[in-house]
Amino acid sequence: MALRQVRQRGDDILGKKAKPVKEITPAILALLDDMKETMDAKEGVGIAAPQVGMLKRMAIVAFEEEFYELINPEIVAAEGSQVSNEACLSVAGLCGDVDRPMKVTVKATDRNGDEYTVTAEDFMATVLCHELDHLDGVLFTDIATNVKPLDDEEREARKERRKRFAKSRTKETE
Ligand SMILES: [Zn+2]
Repeated sequence: MALRQVRQRGDDILGKKAKPVKEITPAILALLDDMKETMDAKEGVGIAAPQVGMLKRMAIVAFEEEFYELINPEIVAAEGSQVSNEACLSVAGLCGDVDRPMKVTVKATDRNGDEYTVTAEDFMATVLCHELDHLDGVLFTDIATNVKPLDDEEREARKERRKRFAKSRTKETE
């Protein structure tokens, strides 16, 4: 595994449409592993292949106990709406409010080549939509309102929101 450089806003590759993965090769598996390592090192909750310079339709989402490797993901159902404050490893130092579905169902292929679907609500739905947008060359700053510096106060507020989300998730499964 290796850390990969995270491309930053202004890099042309982040505005391009990624191409479908035709075959799960050892290089694709290595890329998934590197994306995970890079995401963890940067303390992100998701990362998409274009962010590490690869125009492949691949993304990873990890939050709390949930972890998904998504190859050729597609949103197959969406409902409701929510406005979340988002940030991005490729947009260092900024956050902004984005209107997204409250609940989404995503169909994807896993590293073994098996197709699966994941239905997510609240914060996880936002993360999935955000990562899938990267595959179409869309950054949150392209669609956000109230884009502002991600300062210490905002970082703390984000942590609190996630804690609340984690608690509500725990309740649901009890
Ligand atoms: Zn992002």
